[in-house]
Amino acid sequence: MNFHVMTLFPEMIEQALQTSILGRAIKNGCIGVKAVNIREYTKDKHKKVDDYPYGGGAGMLIQAQPVYDCFQAVRADVEQRKGKAVADRLRVVYLTPQGQCFHQALAGKLAEEEELVFLCGHYEGVDERVLEEIVTDYLSIGDYVLTGGELPALVIMDAVARLVPGVLHNEVSADLETFHDDLLEYPQYSRPVEWHGKRVPEVLLSGDHKKVDEWRREQSRERTKCLRPDLYEKYQRRQEVIHSLLKKNKALYIDMTEALQRGREELIYAEDDGVIVGDRQTGICRLAAFSEKAAVKLVKRAAAESKFNQYVLHQPSLLVPLEEMYQVEGCTPFRQAVYNSRIAPTIKKRIEIRSLTPVYQQEILQHSSAVSESCIKEQLEKGRLFGAFVEENLAGFAGLHQGGGLGLLYVDKSYRGQGIGRTMLSYLIGQQLSEGLTPYAVAAESQAALALFRQLGMKLGKESVYWVKR
Ligand code: SAM
Repeated sequence: MNFHVMTLFPEMIEQALQTSILGRAIKNGCIGVKAVNIREYTKDKHKKVDDYPYGGGAGMLIQAQPVYDCFQAVRADVEQRKGKAVADRLRVVYLTPQGQCFHQALAGKLAEEEELVFLCGHYEGVDERVLEEIVTDYLSIGDYVLTGGELPALVIMDAVARLVPGVLHNEVSADLETFHDDLLEYPQYSRPVEWHGKRVPEVLLSGDHKKVDEWRREQSRERTKCLRPDLYEKYQRRQEVIHSLLKKNKALYIDMTEALQRGREELIYAEDDGVIVGDRQTGICRLAAFSEKAAVKLVKRAAAESKFNQYVLHQPSLLVPLEEMYQVEGCTPFRQAVYNSRIAPTIKKRIEIRSLTPVYQQEILQHSSAVSESCIKEQLEKGRLFGAFVEENLAGFAGLHQGGGLGLLYVDKSYRGQGIGRTMLSYLIGQQLSEGLTPYAVAAESQAALALFRQLGMKLGKESVYWVKR
């Protein structure tokens, strides 16, 4: 992953990133950081980049021109290395106390980007017009005012970089620490067993991993309840929704449960009559209506959030009110299936499976009619589509949908009946289990795909879900 920092003080960024874990990650190529000096792009002959704000007021403002030209240089660099598609969808973060407050789940989302651009303000800030043209995300690191955006950019880069695969040697550690699942981390102890008369809790010396996990989970809950009641309330609410509302039909609602459990989406609405889960950034919104009457109310509630533009409807009754409200583009039925075991299916056939690059985009699009081009593009860029290769020929592919479900499965006609689909799904299920996730699959209503899910021991939802775009 590459960070680009547009700043008036590049040395501040460069110096801070030379040591410890991030310094090592830069040296071994896991992450790249380029600090770009905005001043180099000014057209002012005295190298000035700031001026007085119109209408008066204290302080100076960074002008639009140098920032815009600096961004164009960053964009051109990305286009040259990664192509136009990546450059066109660059995420540009302006650090500002007026932005959304940065948090751990957001760090996880930003870590999925290949290239990330930061704009650091200084003085009184930056001319609004250039912000409107180039910025995609406004982020703050807390409700206080700093002199510049360099420290906030460093804070965010640190939190994001440690989630990039390979940066921390112990890959699982980021999944178990504070804020994962809205809980704080449990207390930890190292040698000696006794210090200042205090002994390490006996359970940690027992060697019983199950008991240790239970103890840690309980400690996490207790600690969060005591130190961060606000977080604990969030955790409890989510657990309540999952266990009392969504578990009523586990396979039907597995995408919603997993979106919440994995921290990918937020709880927007949850009452006895329905649940809405969504992500304002991707625009995906999932609706479950527990009665016909609730459908209209739920659609209206979802419509109050203007950022949503793709809907996963868990009951057909939701479609009519949605169509009355918006012009919708198609309605594709899907079926979901959940893998309930913690043991991965055995892989019977040895096939070479590897992550696919964007070079395969056209080939994949020809065979994935039910999925949008932008989704395929994004999943390829993020390395979430895998190909099965037989003598270097692409025999089939499978991968992850944007929400995290397995699917996008296709096997070339000449390779069918050889267990290639089964092998690919088994491989992906194994991968998800090793990350501590509950694997679930999503497929358009194809008999072959549904039969395969059953063969793999997955529990198939009886009802369809409907994917609708507005
Ligand atoms: N006049 C601005 C306002 O009232 O919103 C504050 C400008 S501040 C003095 C200068 C720069 O520091 C900002 O443009 C921003 O880049 C950065 N900055 C200050 N506080 C920040 C915070 N809490 N989070 C992120 N960036 C911040």
